[in-house]
Amino acid sequence: MQNAAFEHLNLDYCYVTFSVRPEELGDAVRGIRALNLRGVNVTVPHKEAVTQFLDEISEEASFIGAVNTIVNDGGRLKGHNTDGRGFMRSLAEAGILARDKRVLIIGAGGAARAVTYYLCKEASHLFLYNRHFIKATSLMRHLASLRCDAVAVQDDIFADKKFITSIDIIINATPLGLRTDDPLPIDRELLTDTHTVCDLIYRDTALLQEAARRGGRTLNGLGMLLWQGAICFEIWTGVQAPVGVMRDALSEKMSS
Ligand code: NAP
Repeated sequence: MQNAAFEHLNLDYCYVTFSVRPEELGDAVRGIRALNLRGVNVTVPHKEAVTQFLDEISEEASFIGAVNTIVNDGGRLKGHNTDGRGFMRSLAEAGILARDKRVLIIGAGGAARAVTYYLCKEASHLFLYNRHFIKATSLMRHLASLRCDAVAVQDDIFADKKFITSIDIIINATPLGLRTDDPLPIDRELLTDTHTVCDLIYRDTALLQEAARRGGRTLNGLGMLLWQGAICFEIWTGVQAPVGVMRDALSEKMSS
């Protein structure tokens, strides 16, 4: 989608992929300066480790503790994280409003940190559930440092029917659903037509199919992927991203 955008706007950039070994990450980052690259995306498993090699880190990337985008300004490397903003843009585009809503996030890893950084400013209540409770409490404390109230919840909360029916938006921020034999991240019987269910995975997972079958509204992670990429494009080029062109390129790639 980045190359389609560069081509569409006749910009002299080219997006290529490199596979980097963890022990060579520092050399790879120094290579950004040496090769005078304008910027890079960083993905699993380097998003956290790369922060130690950068000159500056944006406030949101620092909160998230992970960088997915680097921009090179005359040899000075700044790290950003565009996932949270990408998610919020995809919600807005789908007409899903988080403002004053009760939101349940499942997962407490990098993606959960990215989306809660923004959601905590919008939602009336933010509940954090993770299979290892300690990580949910750690994210809760981290959000408190932004003066955001979130509540870490444990398994027993799902026995409380009133709790689950009071939730407006459920977000799966775990990899559960990537594989077809994965269990659902939440008991299917808890899903109702009043829930809006979002999955950060790029396609309609079993969770989303079940939620839709029960009459709920659903959103997969493809929009998040698109918008985080559009934001990267703007960071590197300073030019408004041709989102339609990027969306078409992404859809074509996903269906191939
Ligand atoms: P991560 O940092 O590794 O965190 C994974 C989270 O999922 C952790 O909270 C982990 O719980 C939980 N988890 C992992 N396996 C689980 C299982 N079998 N059962 C229950 N919980 C499990 O990963 P991430 O970067 O946050 O990514 C999470 C998902 O978001 C991935 O599917 C990724 O593809 C997606 N994502 C999408 C976009 C997009 O643009 N759409 C962007 C970023 C990420 P523990 O703490 O207990 O281990």
